[in-house]
Amino acid sequence: MIQWFPGHMAKAKREIRERLRLVDVVYELLDARIPAASRNPLLGDLLKNKPRLVLLMKADLADPSQSQLWKRAFEKEGAMALEVDAAGGFRREEIIRSTLEILKPKLEKARERGLRARALRAMVVGIPNVGKSTLINRLARRKATRVADRPGVTRAQQWIRISGELELLDTPGVLWPKFDDEATGMHLALTGAIRDEILESERLGEYLLDFLKKHYPERLAERYGVGLEWGNAEIVEKIARDRGFFQSDQAEKAYDALLTDFRKNRLGRITLDRFNGEEK
Ligand code: GDP
Repeated sequence: MIQWFPGHMAKAKREIRERLRLVDVVYELLDARIPAASRNPLLGDLLKNKPRLVLLMKADLADPSQSQLWKRAFEKEGAMALEVDAAGGFRREEIIRSTLEILKPKLEKARERGLRARALRAMVVGIPNVGKSTLINRLARRKATRVADRPGVTRAQQWIRISGELELLDTPGVLWPKFDDEATGMHLALTGAIRDEILESERLGEYLLDFLKKHYPERLAERYGVGLEWGNAEIVEKIARDRGFFQSDQAEKAYDALLTDFRKNRLGRITLDRFNGEEK
């Protein structure tokens, strides 16, 4: 379990603030399945007056119609947002083009003042497991290297040249997720942003089942051959029976199977944070 001490928070904040001074634009990485839960409110304070590009990572796993709604909501806030699939169909040029577009006013101002154009600089910020290293590696066109999931600068920072005009800091800013309501915690645990030892798998499974019944009942019907109107107990029993779980802990095992199916993306593209006109 992630231990979140106020000291960590302060340290992460200080370090990100220091590095922010070095860059012109920030890539705010959010998980497209949980655009609200994966957003650390701390960043909002840190990023005042800093141009940002919201990258909805793992968009290949999220519900496309929800991603559209979220994108529009970010745009209303004044932040350009892009869906990103860094695992498969990565659109590198789109990110570069959007970055330059965001920085256009800054470039023009510099030009008016007769300043010589220097390379523009960007950095990546996001919660653990959101895809920071994957994105950096893909933008840098290099093979995967792990970047530690902890606040703090572990080695000398380097600038990676991404295009003629753009450089990227090779060390991302890591922010832990912050949550005080149960649903946010559930969404973070379901998507692997926090480990699920924090929550009993049965509670998490029950939550997921209720969620799926409400938002994606047809996926349940398709995968498990259950009726659209079935109750949790019936569904769980069917899953357990089909898999040959007859022991006393069959409910727990069935919920585990459901969680595994969700995490292995066997239930289709799902967005947990529903956009409903407000943030969450
Ligand atoms: P970090 O902790 O933020 O640096 O996250 P990583 O870059 O290590 O990514 C965490 C996991 O998410 C890895 O297994 C990646 O392969 C996976 N991942 C990253 N981006 C994407 C994406 O856009 N789509 C999918 N499906 N998986 C991704």
